[in-house]
Amino acid sequence: MLTCSFCDKSADQTSALLTASGVNVYDTCIAVGVRTIETRDALEEARVTLEELVAENHKILLSQGRQPPK
Ligand SMILES: [Zn+2]
Repeated sequence: MLTCSFCDKSADQTSALLTASGVNVYDTCIAVGVRTIETRDALEEARVTLEELVAENHKILLSQGRQPPK
Protein backbone atom coordinates (compact mmCIF):
# COMPACT_ATOMS: atom_id res chain seq x y z
CA MET A 1 0.00 0.00 0.00
CA LEU A 2 1.23 3.48 -0.83
CA THR A 3 2.07 5.83 2.03
CA CYS A 4 2.82 9.53 2.09
CA SER A 5 6.58 10.13 2.17
CA PHE A 6 5.97 13.23 4.27
CA CYS A 7 3.60 12.09 7.04
CA ASP A 8 3.69 8.31 6.53
CA LYS A 9 -0.12 7.97 6.39
CA SER A 10 -1.39 5.21 4.17
CA ALA A 11 -3.16 5.86 0.88
CA ASP A 12 -6.65 4.91 2.08
CA GLN A 13 -7.35 8.47 3.26
CA THR A 14 -9.65 10.92 1.53
CA SER A 15 -6.81 13.25 0.50
CA ALA A 16 -5.26 12.99 -2.94
CA LEU A 17 -1.87 11.27 -2.97
CA LEU A 18 0.47 12.68 -5.58
CA THR A 19 3.19 10.33 -6.75
CA ALA A 20 6.36 10.92 -8.73
CA SER A 21 9.73 9.14 -8.94
CA GLY A 22 9.01 6.88 -5.96
CA VAL A 23 7.91 9.76 -3.75
CA ASN A 24 4.30 10.12 -2.58
CA VAL A 25 2.88 13.24 -0.97
CA TYR A 26 -0.66 14.04 0.14
CA ASP A 27 -2.25 17.22 -1.11
CA THR A 28 -2.73 18.25 2.53
CA CYS A 29 1.01 17.86 3.16
CA ILE A 30 1.77 19.95 0.08
CA ALA A 31 -0.58 22.60 1.52
CA VAL A 32 1.53 22.61 4.72
CA GLY A 33 4.63 23.18 2.60
CA VAL A 34 2.96 25.99 0.68
CA ARG A 35 1.91 27.69 3.95
CA THR A 36 5.49 27.35 5.24
CA ILE A 37 6.84 29.07 2.12
CA GLU A 38 4.17 31.78 2.31
CA THR A 39 4.99 32.42 5.99
CA ARG A 40 8.71 32.63 5.22
CA ASP A 41 8.07 35.02 2.34
CA ALA A 42 5.78 37.18 4.49
CA LEU A 43 8.41 37.37 7.24
CA GLU A 44 11.11 38.27 4.73
CA GLU A 45 8.86 40.89 3.18
CA ALA A 46 8.06 42.41 6.58
CA ARG A 47 11.80 42.69 7.35
CA VAL A 48 11.04 43.02 11.03
CA THR A 49 13.82 42.05 13.38
CA LEU A 50 13.23 40.28 16.66
CA GLU A 51 14.43 43.42 18.46
CA GLU A 52 11.83 45.54 16.63
CA LEU A 53 9.11 43.02 17.50
CA VAL A 54 10.10 43.08 21.19
CA ALA A 55 10.23 46.91 21.22
CA GLU A 56 6.78 47.08 19.61
CA ASN A 57 5.43 44.56 22.11
CA HIS A 58 6.81 46.63 25.00
CA LYS A 59 5.19 49.79 23.61
CA ILE A 60 1.82 48.02 23.43
CA LEU A 61 2.15 46.67 26.99
CA LEU A 62 3.18 50.11 28.34
CA SER A 63 0.25 51.78 26.52
CA GLN A 64 -2.02 49.31 28.33
CA GLY A 65 -0.42 50.23 31.66
CA ARG A 66 1.22 46.83 31.89
CA GLN A 67 4.84 46.08 32.67
CA PRO A 68 6.83 44.50 29.84
CA PRO A 69 8.94 41.44 30.75
CA LYS A 70 12.60 42.06 31.48
ZN1 LIG B 1 1.50 13.37 4.18
